[in-house]
Amino acid sequence: MSTSTKGGEFLIKETEAKDIFIPEEWNEEQQLIAGTCHDFLAQNVWNNLDRIDSQEEGFMPGLLDKAGELGLLGISVPEEYGGFGKDFTTSMLATEILGAGHSFAVAISAHTGIGTLPILYYGNAEQKAKYIPKLASGEWKACYCLTEPGSGSDANSGKTKAVLSADGKHYILNGQKMWITNGGFADIFTVFAKIDDDTNLSAFIVEKTFGGISLNPEEHKMGIKGSSTRQVFFNECKVPVENLLSERQNGFKIAVNILNLGRIKLAGAAIGGSKVTVTKAVEYANERNQFGRPISKYGAIRYKLAEQATRIYASESAIYRASQNIEDAIKALIAGGMDEAKAKLKGVEQFAVEAAILKVHGSEVLDYVVDEGVQIYGGMGYSAEAPMDRAYRDARINRIFEGTNEINRMLIMDMMLKRAMKGELDLMGPAQKVAAELMSIPSMESPDDALFSKEKSYISNFKKAILMVAGAAVQKLMQTLAKEQEVLMSIADMMIELYVAESVLLRVEKLTGMKGEEACKEQIAMMRIYLNDASDNIHKSGKESINYFASGDEQRMMLTGLKRFTKVDAFNSVEARRTVAAKLITENKYCF
Ligand SMILES: Cc1cc2nc3c(=O)[nH]c(=O)nc-3n(C[C@H](O)[C@H](O)[C@H](O)COP(=O)(O)OP(=O)(O)OC[C@H]3O[C@@H](n4cnc5c(N)ncnc54)[C@H](O)[C@@H]3O)c2cc1C
Repeated sequence: MSTSTKGGEFLIKETEAKDIFIPEEWNEEQQLIAGTCHDFLAQNVWNNLDRIDSQEEGFMPGLLDKAGELGLLGISVPEEYGGFGKDFTTSMLATEILGAGHSFAVAISAHTGIGTLPILYYGNAEQKAKYIPKLASGEWKACYCLTEPGSGSDANSGKTKAVLSADGKHYILNGQKMWITNGGFADIFTVFAKIDDDTNLSAFIVEKTFGGISLNPEEHKMGIKGSSTRQVFFNECKVPVENLLSERQNGFKIAVNILNLGRIKLAGAAIGGSKVTVTKAVEYANERNQFGRPISKYGAIRYKLAEQATRIYASESAIYRASQNIEDAIKALIAGGMDEAKAKLKGVEQFAVEAAILKVHGSEVLDYVVDEGVQIYGGMGYSAEAPMDRAYRDARINRIFEGTNEINRMLIMDMMLKRAMKGELDLMGPAQKVAAELMSIPSMESPDDALFSKEKSYISNFKKAILMVAGAAVQKLMQTLAKEQEVLMSIADMMIELYVAESVLLRVEKLTGMKGEEACKEQIAMMRIYLNDASDNIHKSGKESINYFASGDEQRMMLTGLKRFTKVDAFNSVEARRTVAAKLITENKYCF
């Protein structure tokens, strides 16, 4: 794989299909790990969903214990701390498969992600040696306490306080945290609090046995009912000074960096849940007869199945493309002499734009998939006796936690611009080139006849559309851009569509090279469906921004340019969706 790709560069650089990783390339060991995760769900979780959702005493911690025994809590933990030390892409695969575990998926990902990683990545040698082996084995369960009643999206504004004791041996914690996943049974709490009147948060490793911790009863939630969610109160909680994590006032940075990781992992889990939902939807559509035929014979149902699969396949392409980029970046940093834990954080940080894109896309794909899953099930979709009810309710949280999708959309543009300002990403040069192209006579040159040349030209034009709109937005709105949220959201939507569309094209190109065109006809159809819709979506979002900040001749010129850059040839999407649906219906499962 290529090691030269930088985060955010997808907007200005061409990527070659050979340089991306595609899920069709999983090796035997990775497939084995995926199989273990799948078997775990089948043997312990899917047959116990009611017990999990009723929060039967001790059941969820017991499941985590079992997962620990199998090594599922330590897949990415280094071997010296009792884990398997697997790479980023492999841990993404495990996250994806386990993502279909409803509330269990939330518990295990909170434990292995936001629960364990702050200590693994920011802890000193003693802290890691003390906590990580027990977290990797499941002997200790972890949670992450950032959110407070008055401080959610604005995470750095928390009021929880830490004050050094008179003898200098402890920090005394006082405050209230809210929505804490695994709070009901956690042994280890990573707590974010401000020392004295600091501007920024600090982070502390707090053991339940330190005392001064009390919990509210379980929250009554719309979904993920089996996931423990508590308010946690710290009342004169004595934390030894050696349990300060990293440095004073470094907590917000820890929180943000851990969230970068959480976001891409959430996307993987969402895709795992989506695939299982589609399998159930296809099975039901094949079994359920109305008007004398299985409902899978009807175009209205076929459309939904094909669209569900297309969005999943596209999102998955982007997730593993970014995961491999992250893994390559980590390896390059380690080769350059960086400490492993630091390299892992830096690697993900470099792809924070992509992580935010994937979080939004993955969670919205899942929402689409479960919503249409309910619809395919008809009345049974609304029944608590059938699986879609739980899938629908459990999915909804994903657009809210790990940074709401609004916050993530705004971060996409914000992070891109910051990179440009730091000189890490040359956005202005390419944007000016597009502006100049806009003034020139359009080229009549058409792409050659090689397979996918046309689609590649679409992608390169989508990039121009975004550079044109984003470049003009920066120029025209300047200082106020950060507050022009509708514009930021529209541009983010354009970037999300571009990144995912390009990823699915590159995946299908690589796959076709491996297997031949005939063997990939459904994948090619899904890619073309996605690109066709992406052109409309990018056009719509671009138009909204242009109509806000441009007027007169300039507005007309930009709208014409936008039309030119999002133009695609006529495409028979009905036929393409039928091709995809036919395969799903024959296989009776999500099969791509
Ligand atoms: C089931 C569950 C589990 C959770 N688990 C954890 C956990 O383990 N640990 C933890 O620390 N937290 C956890 N959270 C908290 C979660 O991360 C927050 O709920 C989330 O970050 C949103 O914060 P909030 O609820 O305060 O919403 P708010 O920040 O009040 O947001 C309300 C709405 O306003 C929007 N909004 C907010 N600010 C802006 C802005 N500047 N511009 C535009 N729109 C804005 C949001 O997008 C949202 O639509 C969990 C939450 C839930 C529901």
